[in-house]
Amino acid sequence: MPKCIVCGRFFHEGQGIVIKIPGGLLEFHSSRCAQKFLRMLLEERGSECVAREALELARGLRSSLERLEEGRAKAI
Ligand SMILES: [Zn+2]
Repeated sequence: MPKCIVCGRFFHEGQGIVIKIPGGLLEFHSSRCAQKFLRMLLEERGSECVAREALELARGLRSSLERLEEGRAKAI
């Protein structure tokens, strides 16, 4: 049974959030714990490399949203 790495709660397979990354698994019983972990990673640890990756991903997501919205506007 997976165990939440943030609060230690056990949860059933298929529930919670499990993220497989090279070298290991990140297991969260709820989105709240996943959010807490994300905050720790981005705010508390504040590694430049992680911050850069996060901003790059955000930029990519934003521009694909914009493309989607443009496409939708054209379809109407
Ligand atoms: Zn938890």
